[in-house]
Amino acid sequence: MSHSLVTMSYIIATILFILSLSGLSKQETARKGNYYGMLGMAIAIAATALSGYVTSYEVLLGALVVGGAIGARAAIKVEMTQMPELVAIMHSLVGMAAVLVGYANFLDVSHPLIGVEKTIHEVEIYIGILIGAVTFSGSVIAFCKLSEKISGKPLLLPGRHWFNLLLLIAAVALAGVFLQQSENGSAIVPLAIMTGIALIFGIHMVMAIGGADMPVVVSMLNSYSGWAAAATGFMLSNDLLIVTGALVGSSGAILSYIMCRAMNRNFISVIAGGFGAAAGGEAAVIEGEVQPIDADETAQLLLEAKNIMIIPGYGMAVAQAQHTVNEITKLLKEKGKKVGFGIHPVAGRMPGHMNVLLAEAKVPYDIVYEMDEINEDWAHVDVSIVIGANDIVNPSALDDPNSPIAGMPVLECWKGGTTIVLKRSMASGYAGVGNPLFVLENTRMLFGDANATMQAVLKALKG
Ligand code: NDP
Repeated sequence: MSHSLVTMSYIIATILFILSLSGLSKQETARKGNYYGMLGMAIAIAATALSGYVTSYEVLLGALVVGGAIGARAAIKVEMTQMPELVAIMHSLVGMAAVLVGYANFLDVSHPLIGVEKTIHEVEIYIGILIGAVTFSGSVIAFCKLSEKISGKPLLLPGRHWFNLLLLIAAVALAGVFLQQSENGSAIVPLAIMTGIALIFGIHMVMAIGGADMPVVVSMLNSYSGWAAAATGFMLSNDLLIVTGALVGSSGAILSYIMCRAMNRNFISVIAGGFGAAAGGEAAVIEGEVQPIDADETAQLLLEAKNIMIIPGYGMAVAQAQHTVNEITKLLKEKGKKVGFGIHPVAGRMPGHMNVLLAEAKVPYDIVYEMDEINEDWAHVDVSIVIGANDIVNPSALDDPNSPIAGMPVLECWKGGTTIVLKRSMASGYAGVGNPLFVLENTRMLFGDANATMQAVLKALKG
């Protein structure tokens, strides 16, 4: 394939990636966005394979088959609730690829460079490995936290900010040593030390971020993986990889910012760590009587209500209750009720988690509202059903300054009529804090697996 044809294909792929991002920003066009992305990636792979740089098609094909098979298996096998972990571990692979490409470039002496070009290439290698290693180790820790292999609580070492600063200074100083020693062939030593430092930094950074701030980590690592890919693009002189990496890097950064704003957090404070920990004293202990309710009574309350708000959370994903919830919604609408869904920006375990579930169940988009839209309007809601949500409806975020989620905006359903909370026990949610909502006067608890209880409510409504 001629060079201009490759460039042309890369431009087309870039346009398709941009269209893909814009498609993915709205639920109605998300499917189309995915198709654009797939087409763009197919063009990118084909153009790169035919660009004349490939020396062994056997290796390329082997890598495509093995990588494709692992990806396909993961996509088929992974449960919806494991998606965030899958995304985290995928990010770690991007980081690892950047590190490996960096070392391969460093050790490759087949295209010797001189002067400024050599220095630029070495800086690319250094930065690529640095970002790649931070992304790799940070993503592995995020994976372990999200899959509950390690505790989600923040690890707050004394003097952690100084430790981070020390690591940063060491990484910068080693860059100078690396560039100096590249003449005499011993530059691998500072490079290897920097890699170790970057790995430690990635681990320490994510370990220090507390439970409820994990959404920001997930989107931030997404951004890092983009920058790691862009750095790889520089090392390989591949324009498409640079552009694609920059697209992922900047969109991830924007998403992190949006998530921070939604949670009323300062971006810098979150990434510096320790924000998920209580600021001062102990969080308040929840005391009071819970008022259980059964499926028949729930159905009765729903039949008496005019305006119903459904608040889905992580437990709806665990129970896979979205289809039953959709059935109930259709039935209630047929009975003349006004039914809406209130979506908190960090509900579930990944950005957009609830929207994906509701779209899968074919819930119409026009009855799905964002938090800001409905927090003004609770006085008009007769009954709200909280399905497997906990942290996102916790009033202590607003009135307990010692709570680990203090300051995070929540869906203030207690300001409406009756709130029915569906969960299996009195256990806390992701942030590990008690929820005073469960003992409020106008709250009823419907205990059990959310799908089973929703099925029972559906039966009662039909009966
Ligand atoms: P939570 O984790 O706060 O609460 C989920 C609740 O669902 C639990 O209290 C659990 O209670 C209940 N539950 C679990 N399984 C079932 C089931 N089968 N049937 C019924 N209930 C069930 O979830 P929220 O969505 O309210 O809040 C999200 C939390 O996750 C926030 O703290 C957020 O910061 C964090 N997070 C969000 C990410 C994102 O990007 N969205 C990423 C990482 C973390 P019980 O065990 O009693 O059933």
